[in-house]
Amino acid sequence: MEPIQIELPTIFESMTVNTWLIKGPEPTLIDCGENTDKLWNALINGLKVNGLGITDIKKVIITHGHLDHIGMAKRITEHCDATIWVSEYVYDWAIHLKMMLDRRSGVIMEVMEKNLPSKEREQYFKFGYKELAPYWDEIPKDRIQVFPMEGTLNIGEEEWEIIYTPGHCINQTCFYNPKSGYLLSADMLLPIIAIPIIDAGIKPPYNRVKSLAMQLESYKKLKKLHITKTFPGHFSAFENTLALIEKQERKIQSRKEKCFALIENGISQVIEIVHQVYPKRVNDATIFMVVGLLDILMDEGRIEYEEIDGLYHYSSITKKVVFS
Ligand SMILES: [Zn+2]
Repeated sequence: MEPIQIELPTIFESMTVNTWLIKGPEPTLIDCGENTDKLWNALINGLKVNGLGITDIKKVIITHGHLDHIGMAKRITEHCDATIWVSEYVYDWAIHLKMMLDRRSGVIMEVMEKNLPSKEREQYFKFGYKELAPYWDEIPKDRIQVFPMEGTLNIGEEEWEIIYTPGHCINQTCFYNPKSGYLLSADMLLPIIAIPIIDAGIKPPYNRVKSLAMQLESYKKLKKLHITKTFPGHFSAFENTLALIEKQERKIQSRKEKCFALIENGISQVIEIVHQVYPKRVNDATIFMVVGLLDILMDEGRIEYEEIDGLYHYSSITKKVVFS
């Protein structure tokens, strides 16, 4: 059974998010958007177009703990008997929202304090509990069902494989149906490269993880599947998934080399690199991407950093090699 797209508005004007409806005896939604009246009305309308009401929904399966995928879950439980399915790693997001938002915004701010002058920091980063909580609620424990990070999940009377794909989000899972070759790709795979949002690790001491490096590993996992059609968290479904993954991998590699060339030429700060690599798109997303690219260059042993007046300055290592 092919998932049906219901496109929903988000708090970001230009962006929409998908809930994927899977009909059958147990009508199921994959993700559910943010808790706003506008989105709620769009959801009810989208179900109606498909001959359903909210009381028909039996399951809501959450792909990852980001506002635009889980925010509406609590409100749904108030209007029907649906069970909200979250992975082991998303569970804390479902029941300890403030703690988790504080943890995530803590590691984001830590990176930003070391990489952005204060003016830019204030301009681009508003990710705390205060900003996001109005659109997001904790889910009553007795309405939650937890699924493991690997194994299978029954969706629409078919077994879908759970594929753990950290990168865009540390707790993200995709679902793959080996019979049809369909992939519910969450925000791992979008027609555009997903943002490697900075996040804290799953386990104590909850240090920052290298989101983009993880995203590249997750691409490798997906490349092993025989995907016939992909149903992403944003934008429309698409085919030719393998070609798209390889294109995104190449683009990331070429941007990484661009960052390296800039650093070799003496550009030393993250914000300056962002301005050079994404001249028309200096925003939180491109800052996350550059931080991720620098992580990889550091892992490759090609750059290093030193702290000067509280800010990290990056320099290339190869330049310092003395040939004798
Ligand atoms: Zn999203």
